[in-house]
Amino acid sequence: MRVLRDDALESGDQRLGTRFWIFPQPPFIPGYEQPDRVWLPIPRDEIGEGPSDAMMYVVDPVYDKQPYGFDRLPPFRGAMHSPATPGPDRHFDYISPDSRAFLSVHAYACVHFVLSIWQNYIGRPIRWFFDQTFPRLEIVSFVNWDNAQAGYGFLELGCSDTDGIRRPYALNFDTIAHEIGHLILLSETDVPTALTREGDFFPFSEAFSDVVSLISFLHFDSAIDRLLRRTKGNLLLYNELNRFAETSPESQIRLATNFRRMSEVTREVHDRALPFVGAIFDSIVEIYHRELVARDCADRGLLDIDLRHLARDDFERFRTATAEAFRIKPMIFGLALRAARDAVGQALAGSLRTLDPDTLRLDQAATAVIAAASQPAATVLESNFVWREIIVSR
Ligand SMILES: [Zn+2]
Repeated sequence: MRVLRDDALESGDQRLGTRFWIFPQPPFIPGYEQPDRVWLPIPRDEIGEGPSDAMMYVVDPVYDKQPYGFDRLPPFRGAMHSPATPGPDRHFDYISPDSRAFLSVHAYACVHFVLSIWQNYIGRPIRWFFDQTFPRLEIVSFVNWDNAQAGYGFLELGCSDTDGIRRPYALNFDTIAHEIGHLILLSETDVPTALTREGDFFPFSEAFSDVVSLISFLHFDSAIDRLLRRTKGNLLLYNELNRFAETSPESQIRLATNFRRMSEVTREVHDRALPFVGAIFDSIVEIYHRELVARDCADRGLLDIDLRHLARDDFERFRTATAEAFRIKPMIFGLALRAARDAVGQALAGSLRTLDPDTLRLDQAATAVIAAASQPAATVLESNFVWREIIVSR
């Protein structure tokens, strides 16, 4: 009897998943020095040393490794640091963030964290676009190279070097989420084979990856909590009076709060991606406001004015009212932001399968996102894509 009960407990606990630490922002960012403990939805007995599983594995080369490229592809066959191993309870949260092995464990956890979020939005398992050649993704947790890249069968993480201080991208959730964004997009649309000159596949890929990073970041309860507490629930970032965006420690938010329209950007892919990212962020904020109004936490007047041209008086009035409501009902603000995040995440994910990577233009991508959105998100997204000059108003 006792054995049976223990077995039942053991298997129930197994299904809970496996524990890891993730830094939602790199640990040198003020306010983010401590990692969050996350449960990845993978049974403990399915994760081996490395870590590794049926979908991916981590390698940590001993010597400087040449970055992967056209004629250099996985698997890595050189000397490797000994792989990270699970603790006696088969969880990975016993590994000290100061240790070498933590880089591998952290990178692995970030990749799975992002994948599981987007798999939820997409509604079916994500299969690597390269799985005919490489059944598993190889994650190289440290390369002495100031870059991070994802490609055919790999995710490779270097380190930034500022004044001699090296900071591994393996500890940078934002960077990893962005790179996984590229892989998710290719896995859903397939690889472009005959790009046209007018095509926007690469700018869209950059925009999508930035949004994957932003929306995935908003899946840390601690991140939503910190963001709302710091702003007292006020995400009115447009206004020049509000310096929040520029000084925001969250890199995703700094990037997403731009004012660029299509007539103001060059053909360079990252530049051309900015209006799309901005439209998505604006939409999240606007849907958040609607949610706040619907939940009796903000003045209805918030929905009737163009927030980009808010007068100082109006701004102050909204800020005071929001701060007062936030003081009493912070939890409702968290629910509102999560609802806005998911409405937009769902729309983006729903659009992917309808896109043709060879001929894709940003206006088509925007139209597909609107078509995949439910109301009122669709209306909000449309008006923001119009303001950004990505589509013309109908
Ligand atoms: Zn990129």
